[in-house]
Amino acid sequence: MGDTTMAEKETNTSRPLETVAVLGAGTMGHGIAQVTAQAGHRVLLHDPSPQALAQGMSRIRANLEKGVSLGKVDPETRDQVLDRIAAVETLEAAVGPADLVIEAAPERMEVKRSIFQEVEAGAGPAALLATNTSSLSIDGIADGLERPERFLGLHFFNPVHIMALVEVVHGPRTAPEVLEQAVDFARGLGKEPIVVRDSPGFASSRLGLALGLEAIRMLEEGVASAEDIDRAMELGYRHPMGPLRLTDLVGLDVRLGIAEYLHETLGQNHFQPPELLRTKVSEGKLGKKSGEGFYRWDD
Ligand code: NAD
Repeated sequence: MGDTTMAEKETNTSRPLETVAVLGAGTMGHGIAQVTAQAGHRVLLHDPSPQALAQGMSRIRANLEKGVSLGKVDPETRDQVLDRIAAVETLEAAVGPADLVIEAAPERMEVKRSIFQEVEAGAGPAALLATNTSSLSIDGIADGLERPERFLGLHFFNPVHIMALVEVVHGPRTAPEVLEQAVDFARGLGKEPIVVRDSPGFASSRLGLALGLEAIRMLEEGVASAEDIDRAMELGYRHPMGPLRLTDLVGLDVRLGIAEYLHETLGQNHFQPPELLRTKVSEGKLGKKSGEGFYRWDD
């Protein structure tokens, strides 16, 4: 991608998104940084935790090494991709030169709002600002921004370098050309974008949660075992993974948080978190990451 002068950056709102800042280097942030660099963008990856930043960089390296060992990435491409990603210690240094900022910080409204206040102060006026939230209101996060028309959701899926879907979520104040640029950006990453209106849980989390919570209620009622409920969806509906195993992978605490938010905002009974989910979370049974959820994950 060619160079753009600062003057052009300030006036041209439809330029290609050459430089992308990714805020948060955790599960999602490192993956977003990787796929963005693989598509040829320069990436500035920032995390306030130096350990998380270092770990994010080494996870990217490990993903690419694995690609090389499987014959899917050639060593020269691996080196070029790594050259395009810089680990940046401060938020200001990451967002200053960015044409697009993607935030992948913890799923808490007040955290995201405060990040974007800082981002808006440090980024150029034409920069696109995007959040990777999986459920929170886009317009709520944009509250207090001077340029809410440049703000939207870019919801990637885990693991980012494998999953094809990106939900592009527009708030009521997102400008149509910003939405268009974001859709083009997602396509440029080799992803399949879908466009969703700002609504709790968007298209993916809302549907996924409805299925997951109902499966938990069925387990509570003794309809069938966890294995058999999962098998019903895998064999009967060709889901690659049943709803209970998927809940274990996502994290029971994460799903409980989203369920509470959807119940509160949509007010529908089917989003009321089942007692079994609350009990397991309070016992620390959070799924794969803690070693037990609806299944045991001994290895
Ligand atoms: P994570 O806990 O793995 O990573 C979050 C990172 O953000 C941490 O490294 C943390 O140090 C960093 N952070 C904390 N405060 C920050 C700040 N002020 N600025 C920048 N970084 C900060 O979380 P995750 O699973 O990567 O989730 C990140 C976001 O992506 C959340 O909004 C989540 O809902 C969403 N999401 C998660 C998944 C998933 O499967 N995990 C899928 C889709 C979307």
